[in-house]
Amino acid sequence: MLTSRFRPYHVPLFIGKYAWLVARRMPVLVHFEVTLRCNARCGFCDYWKTHPSARDHELTSFADAARFFNPMMITFTGGEPLLRRDLEDLVRAVSSAVRLKYVALITHGAMLTPERGRSLWDAGVHQFNISLDYLDERHDRARGIPGLAARIFANIPALQSRGIDNIRFNTVIKNDNVDQILPLVHRAHELGVGVNLSVYTDAKNGNASHLLGDAHARDVDDLIAALLDFKRRHRGVITSSDYYLRQIPRYVRGELRDPCRSGIRTIHIDPVGHVKRCPDFPTDFHWRDYRRYTPIGCDACYYACRGEAQAPLEWSRVQDVLGSTRGAPPA
Ligand code: SF4
Ligand code: SF4
Repeated sequence: MLTSRFRPYHVPLFIGKYAWLVARRMPVLVHFEVTLRCNARCGFCDYWKTHPSARDHELTSFADAARFFNPMMITFTGGEPLLRRDLEDLVRAVSSAVRLKYVALITHGAMLTPERGRSLWDAGVHQFNISLDYLDERHDRARGIPGLAARIFANIPALQSRGIDNIRFNTVIKNDNVDQILPLVHRAHELGVGVNLSVYTDAKNGNASHLLGDAHARDVDDLIAALLDFKRRHRGVITSSDYYLRQIPRYVRGELRDPCRSGIRTIHIDPVGHVKRCPDFPTDFHWRDYRRYTPIGCDACYYACRGEAQAPLEWSRVQDVLGSTRGAPPA
């Protein structure tokens, strides 16, 4: 699914840049964690406990790091990136530093007003990823933000009416929302937005209460079959690769033992410029001292950043990119 700011002829250019980065063993995707501060209260993540004084040490520009890595894809993430009042400046500077790039912003969505969305869009964001794990108040309770789900659903048409045509839900499959995933995908289709799926892990703060296990394996099998069937009928709504989806039941059953390749195609840069291989590992060095990562024997998660890094370039991936949610009829 592409924003209208890109045209099909960009696809071979991106494929060329991807091949160039892979040949140089440089990351294709760089996540800039512009702050670890957050005003949500999630039970499965401790970033919101970051002391407000951390703000004093946050970089005021990530442009030099962006120029150094020259990635194909860039995300601005956190913590909650919209807490940075200078976020537009950060986006603009990074966008100017990298020529051919695709820029996404990950947010819990509570502060993504139509006005702020448009100003970030004008600064260079190509895609908004809004976290959404449930369709109703369960999402508000999980994030500790009253009225959050309703606010997200109200803001989407307002964002779209301001010309923002590329919004996705970032949805984490947990043991208590398996029944929500397909309805959420249908809702996304109705709204003309995408869904990017991931699997819950307790790697963030040890909260095991949402973990999927053997007891949920059958339900997960059925869910994945239904998601793949939906993908075959409506390319471009579910943006996770077929490969990644197919591995999820194996992960839930504890059958996945491949080394993790995080840090090879994707890296995270924290608010002070230090690099880590994935969101939940400690930092290893400053980006100026960058050293290439090698696969690691870690099985703590099956995040998309682990699973998608292993996904082969199948034809279905191209269909995912070229598929459109725009003008989607109700499913
Ligand atoms: S999961 Fe996201 S929204 Fe929740 S506390 Fe962590 S950074 Fe904030
Ligand atoms: S499996 Fe990979 S992505 Fe997941 S926590 Fe371990 S190193 Fe990070």
